[in-house]
Amino acid sequence: MRYEGVVYRPPSEANSLLIQATIGCPHNKCTFCSMYKGTKFRIRPVEEIKADLRMAKIYYGDWIKSIFFPDGNTIIMKTKDLVEIFSYARQLFPFLERITVYGSARFVDKKSLEDLIALKEAGLSRIHMGMESGDDTVLSRICKGTTSDQIISAGLKLKQAGVELSEYYLVGIGGPELSEQHAINSARVLNQFIPDFIRFRTYQPVQNSPLYEQYISGEFELLTPHQALQEIRLLIENLDCPGTMVTSDHVSNYWNITGRLPQDREAMLQEIDYALTIPESTLRPAPITHL
Ligand code: SF4
Repeated sequence: MRYEGVVYRPPSEANSLLIQATIGCPHNKCTFCSMYKGTKFRIRPVEEIKADLRMAKIYYGDWIKSIFFPDGNTIIMKTKDLVEIFSYARQLFPFLERITVYGSARFVDKKSLEDLIALKEAGLSRIHMGMESGDDTVLSRICKGTTSDQIISAGLKLKQAGVELSEYYLVGIGGPELSEQHAINSARVLNQFIPDFIRFRTYQPVQNSPLYEQYISGEFELLTPHQALQEIRLLIENLDCPGTMVTSDHVSNYWNITGRLPQDREAMLQEIDYALTIPESTLRPAPITHL
């Protein structure tokens, strides 16, 4: 396998084979993100990706059960090319159970329902979607390149196609000023398509990103640990997503809040209330759970 630059993957793909299908991100404008800054986006030729899959087969044999195809927004590739790659991977690895990619709502929404069904039939199991927020003011401020309507449309299409959806909610990305509307409008959006997972990331400034500069200059204010937990509390209170798994599977979070809706809602709220009794100065990122 040949890799270019830093290869990012969600924690839940820790045991997956990683095969880069794209290099960089076709959007590359989110103000909080530094992952692919300075990398010119390109899609690798299908034959090159297939050659990497053959290399993995030589190295690992038949025993690959899960493949994640980075980099950012691999879903932007032509449907016929993705179908070819996924089908080829399934031929090579007879025990393959899961194929996943990153896909922002804007790029997923460009696919027709028929495209998404074809991808599902070719083996696509799950999309990791960085929604970040369902609030249009927040989305616009962070230059996410999507609107809440696009997030809903993409989510509904994926659900209809039977592709699992892992949504990422960025705690604190609206700052204290927009925290409440960020949580309430995100719940409103998520309730309309009911993702399989809602995964929390708590915003922590990273160098080489515009929002880091805004944070350093005082233009953007971070939530305190208690404010971050209160924001998660408000989101969970407003979620009406039966069956959705909520998880804090990332080191950026101050506390591990995990449970299935609706049966674990009260337990998660109690857990948050307990965490809120702990002095902020001692709150640190929590151990993570992989799902
Ligand atoms: S957050 Fe995702 S869509 Fe936004 S710039 Fe980073 S990789 Fe691209």
